[in-house]
Amino acid sequence: MTKFAGMGVSPGRIVGPVYRMPPAVVEPSANATWDRAGTTVEAEQARLKDAARAVQTELYARAEATGGDAKILLETTALMAADPVLLQSANAEIVAGVSAERAVWEAGSQVAEMLRGLGGYMAQRTQDVLDVRSRIVAELRGQPAPGVPAPGKPFILAAATLAPTDAAALDPAVVVGILTTSGGPQSHTAVMARSLGIPTVVGAEGTQALQDGVEVYLDGASGVVIVHPGDTERAAVALWARQTTSLGAFNGHGTTSDAHHVSLLANVATAAEAEHAAAANAEGIGLLRTEFCFLNRDTEPSMGEQAAAYEQIFAQFPGRPVIIRTLDASSDQPLPFLNASPEQNPALGTRGYRTGSGGVLERQLEAIAAASKETEADVQVMAPMISTAAEAAGFAQLCERAGLGSAGVMVEVPAAALSAAAIARHVDFLSIGTNDLTQYAMAADRDLGSLGALNDPWQPAVLRLVSLTVQGVRTATENDDARHAPPPISVCGEAAADPALAVVLVGLGVDSLSMSSRSLPAVSAVLKSVDLDTARELADLAVHASDPAEGRRLVRDRLPILQSLGL
Ligand code: PEP
Ligand code: MG
Repeated sequence: MTKFAGMGVSPGRIVGPVYRMPPAVVEPSANATWDRAGTTVEAEQARLKDAARAVQTELYARAEATGGDAKILLETTALMAADPVLLQSANAEIVAGVSAERAVWEAGSQVAEMLRGLGGYMAQRTQDVLDVRSRIVAELRGQPAPGVPAPGKPFILAAATLAPTDAAALDPAVVVGILTTSGGPQSHTAVMARSLGIPTVVGAEGTQALQDGVEVYLDGASGVVIVHPGDTERAAVALWARQTTSLGAFNGHGTTSDAHHVSLLANVATAAEAEHAAAANAEGIGLLRTEFCFLNRDTEPSMGEQAAAYEQIFAQFPGRPVIIRTLDASSDQPLPFLNASPEQNPALGTRGYRTGSGGVLERQLEAIAAASKETEADVQVMAPMISTAAEAAGFAQLCERAGLGSAGVMVEVPAAALSAAAIARHVDFLSIGTNDLTQYAMAADRDLGSLGALNDPWQPAVLRLVSLTVQGVRTATENDDARHAPPPISVCGEAAADPALAVVLVGLGVDSLSMSSRSLPAVSAVLKSVDLDTARELADLAVHASDPAEGRRLVRDRLPILQSLGL
C-alpha cells in the first residue's frame, strides 16, 4: 500500500479513481509550416476539419451528459468548434503554408479579438473561442483535451495545481476529491474547494506519478492519501459520513455557552452559494467576493450587469447584513480588465484597493448602490488590501459619494493591523482577512505548498496582529467622544472556519465570524460548548504558544467536543 502525505485543506474522506488534469496546451511555433513534400493543402485542411469535428462531437457528448447552465455552455462551445469564420480563416493560413495547428491558433486569436471588440455578450464568449482553439490543437497533436477531464463517473481530480477559475467550475457531484502536488492551504483554490465541500489535499508530493483510473483514499482533514485502499480506509469513509450527519444544522444564532452573541456569517462568491448560505441559516453574508462573478471576463462588466449579479445575491438575505467586497484582483485570480500589465511581484503589487484607478471602483460602487436599492438586505461595502488610514478615509469618501451608508475595510496587511486605531476613525467596521494577513505577516506566498507550515493562521505572530487590531479599535473609540461604540470587527479569512481557532478569535475580542456555509454547523456547535471567559483563556494560550502546533494542541486539548464530533 503506497501512502502520500500532503496538507488537508477541505475536510472529508473519500475513496475514488484518480484522473489527472492534462497539461495546458502549448502555443504552436509561429514558424510552423506543413510539409510540402509529404502532404497537400487539401490533406492539411482535411486534418483540421476532422480535428474540429472530433472536438465538436466530444463537447456535444459532454453537454448531453449534463444539465442546466453547464449544458448550455458546452453546447455553445461545441458550436464554436465548427464556426465557419474560424475554419475559413485557418484554411486561408494553411493555403499560405502554415501548419494546421498554427493556423487554427492564429484564427482563434483573430476571432477572439473580434468578439472582444464587439463588447457585451459577444465579448464574454472570448474565452470559449480560446478554449476551442486549444482543444483543436490538442486533437491535432493527439494529446488529451485540456481542462477538467470527463471520465463519465465520479472521480478525484489530480493536478499540479488548479486555477481558481477551474476550481470554481467544478461539480462536487462529479469531482468528489481534489489532489494537488503544489498549492497552499489558504490559496483561493483551497477556499473554493472548501466552499464546494470537496475533500481536498494539496502539496502531496509524489502523487504526480499516479496513473489515471487508480483508486485512492483521500482524507481532506489530515492530508493522507493512500493508493489501493483497504477495509480500514473504507470504514473511515463510512465513519466520516455518519459524523457529518450527526452534527445537525446551524440554528441561525451563534453564541457561546453563556449567551455571548457572535454573528456567524457566510463567505460567498456566487448567487448559488448565497442560496446555500441562506438555506444553512447564515446570519448574513460576511464576505461577498465580487471578483468571482467576473473571473473569465476580458472586459469590465457594465454597471447593469454588475447590479444584476449583486441583486441576485442581496435578495437572499432580506433584512440581514450583506458585506460586499469591492474587486480584489490578485496574483492567483487576475482580472484582465484590471491587471493590464504583468508585474514581477503581483502579491505586493497593484491589487485590491490599489487597482481603483480609472473609475472601475467608482462604477462598482454605483452598481452596488443601485442593486442595494432594489432589495431589503442591509448592504455594507468593504475594500480589500487597505494599508493606511488615508486609504481607509479615501474609500469611505467614495462610498459616501455613491450613497452607500456603511463602509468598512479589510485588515489583511500587517500595517493595517498596526494602524487599526487610526483606520477605525474613518470606517464603520473592520474585517480581518487572515489568509492574506498570514501571507504578509509571514512573508510566505499563500499559493506555495512548500511554505504551508508558515502559512498557518495559528502562527502566534498572526494571532498577535488580530489582538492588536481589536485593541487598536477599542483605543480609538475610547479617545473619541463623538463615537459611542467601537466599530465591529469580524474575521472572514479561513481561520474563522476552523472551530478551535474560531473560539480563539472570539476570545481575542472579535465580534463576528464569516466562513464557508458548510463550516457553520461545526463552528456554532464548538462555540456553544465554551463560555466567553474560557474562550479568552484559550486565546491567551494560543497567542503565547511557542509555535502553531503547540497553540493548536493546547487549545484542542481544552475542547473535548472536537473529538466527539470527529472534528
Ligand atoms: C483573506 O485574505 O483572508 C480574505 C478573506 O480574502 P481572500 O481570501 O479573498 O484574499
Ligand atoms: Mg485577501
